[in-house]
Parts: sequence; C-alpha cells; structure tokens
Amino acid sequence: MKKITDTELIRTANRRDIIQSLRIHGELARVELGGYTQLSPATVTSITSELVQQGIIFEQNVVLEPGGVRGRPKVKLQLNKNSAFYLSIKLSLNEIGLMLGNINGEIVAHRTLSMVTVSLNETQLADTIHSVVENFITQHQVDRAKLRGLGLAVQGVIETQGKGILWSPAVDGEHLHLVDLLSQRAQLPVFIANDANCLAVALHSQPQYQNINNFVAIQLGYGVGMGLIVNGEIYQDAGAATTEFGHTKFTLNGSQCRCGGRGCIEAYLGDYAIYRDASAIYNLPQSEFLHPSEKQMQALCERAQSGDQVMANIFNQAGTVLGLGLANIMALFNPQKIVISGPGVRDYAFIHEAMSKTLKENLLPYHQTDGVVEKFSWDEDMTGLGMIAIIQQQTD
Ligand SMILES: [Zn+2]
Repeated sequence: MKKITDTELIRTANRRDIIQSLRIHGELARVELGGYTQLSPATVTSITSELVQQGIIFEQNVVLEPGGVRGRPKVKLQLNKNSAFYLSIKLSLNEIGLMLGNINGEIVAHRTLSMVTVSLNETQLADTIHSVVENFITQHQVDRAKLRGLGLAVQGVIETQGKGILWSPAVDGEHLHLVDLLSQRAQLPVFIANDANCLAVALHSQPQYQNINNFVAIQLGYGVGMGLIVNGEIYQDAGAATTEFGHTKFTLNGSQCRCGGRGCIEAYLGDYAIYRDASAIYNLPQSEFLHPSEKQMQALCERAQSGDQVMANIFNQAGTVLGLGLANIMALFNPQKIVISGPGVRDYAFIHEAMSKTLKENLLPYHQTDGVVEKFSWDEDMTGLGMIAIIQQQTD
C-alpha cells in the first residue's frame, strides 16, 4: 500500500477547506478564499489552479459596478455543479430512499421505493440495493465517472470500522457487511452512517449552527437517536459507530425496549413505545412490525390536541423521560446547543412542558439551558442531505 506522506495529507486537507468554503459561500475571489481558509496566497493559487484544470471549479470575470475600483476585472471562483455527484441510500424498514446530490449539496434527483427489506439476508440485501442503485443511475443518466460514492444511511447500530450494520430494525439479521458487498458490486466507494449522525451533520451545516463546535442532535421517531459534534467534527467511537442515547436507561427493569433490554429511554419515548402505551388504553389499529405509521402517530397527537387527558399523560411521561435524558447529556458534555428534530417532533407541543420541567429539576446548579435546547422542524430530506455531506467530507 502506498504510504501517504504528511505533505499529501496537508494538501488534501487544504483542498477540502477550499471546496467547502466555496460550497458555503458560493463564488469567491482567491483573496477571499485565503481569508476564509487562512491559507497562504501561494497555496490558494496552487490548489485552485489544479481544481480549475480538473473541471471542479471555474473562473469567472466579474465586471465591477460603475463607481467601483478601477483596474482588472475581479476573478471569482465557483464550484462547477456538474463536476461531482453523491448518492445517498436511506435504508428504513421496507423502504429504500435514494437521493442524488451535486457538489454544492443540492438535490438533483430522488426516489423512494417500497420493498421488503426485513426478510433479506446479507447477500440478498446487497443485491437488492445494487439493482435499485443501477436502475436509478440509468434512469437519471448519472455519469458514473462523476459519481464520487454511495452512502448508506441506516436506522440502527453501525459496526465499528464502518463496515456494515450491527443491528437495525430495517433488517432481520445482524452483522451485515454491506459496505464491502455493495462496493464490489457497484465499483464505487461506499460509506455508511447511522441516520442520527446524518441528521447531526445536516443540522450542523445550517447557517445558524455551523460555527457551534459542541453540538448535539437528537432524532425522535420510531427510535431515539443522537448525533454528536465535538470540536466541529462528528464524534466517532473506535470505528464509525454511534452513540446510543436511546438505550441509556431511564429506570432499571422498566418497559421492554426493542434492543432486548428494559427501561431504556427509547422504550418510553420512541413512536412504538408511545403507540404501545396508547394501544393499552384505546382500541387502535395494529401497527406493522410494531412500527406505527405517521398517520397513526398523528392520530395520537389529535387526541391530545382535543383535550384527551389520558393521551396527554402518555406524552407527558415521554417528555419527562426525554428531560431526564437531556439532563444527563448536559452533565456529560455541557454542549452549546441541543437540537431536537426527527419525525417525532410532531409530538413536541405535547412533550415540551414535561421535558423542560424535568430537565431544569435535574440540571447541575452551574449548568444552564436557556437557549441551549431547541426544536428544528423535521424534513425527511434531512437524512439524505446529511449523508451527501458525509460522502463529500470523505471524498473532496
Ligand atoms: Zn434499548
């Protein structure tokens, strides 16, 4: 294997900084790029010339406005939006969502397919995803030479070293080594991340959050996930696995959790837990694989909205559990911001009060959460956008 020298590593990091600055700020002059990246004029000139040659950025002469400084027209640099593409593959229970992004991170095409995922073994799942990807590439006439990589965004636990799925509600088996299998089939680099990490990256790239170095994203929904940004970078443990906030404990020997344990936060706060508790009281339609649909969850919100006190109590219990979990996060990390999103924010109006009360009651006296915890409206494109940003970070 070729040894990568320090000089090469530094040049790659500088190149990433330049591409990322153009992604965030749009067109920039070389001197402005130097300001944003803190790189020397010689380095900026050398790397941008290489990027121009490779067709990744192009130069544009900008004519100065009348009354502007006389002299040569300013040269602005811009990313060539057709120079590179990234494909996010979101794997959920019996659903595969594809999203193609360009170098600016803009969505170019997307498609969601309903298909059985839960009964497939490792090889069948890799074959299925590969065939879905190949059809998508053909249908949208994606230039393979410009496709930088595929990214699997998965609900559940990702194996260390980022090789596959350790456990996921979307699939039946465990230890599915999808990364190598898919990479061999597609002949492209393949990356994998937990969906909460994708959300954290997507949220952290929002203008209001991108300069916050210590940032927590909580994803509410079927399960409860967390993505952690530490010192501006997504936190990864020994490999690429994820934090498991949803499976930290609320109480010993409590409600049954999907992980096999009892008393986890998720066993009170996940959609399936709220639906399970509501089903014990109301005659509700059965949910598929204990996976209530968005419509079924909305119906519970409508009950609470209409003043149903029993339903309000179930949401209050979920809020209390979340508040205690947030107090633990504050004690462990004291982050600058905790942003709650995911499909489960539909319940936020009903869990918010109990959550805030419990958080305040369990906070250390010298910690404060004013302006720290907030909600971010959920958009289902967010996982794919985060995955595209993760592929970009790995391939720029
Ligand atoms: Zn659990």
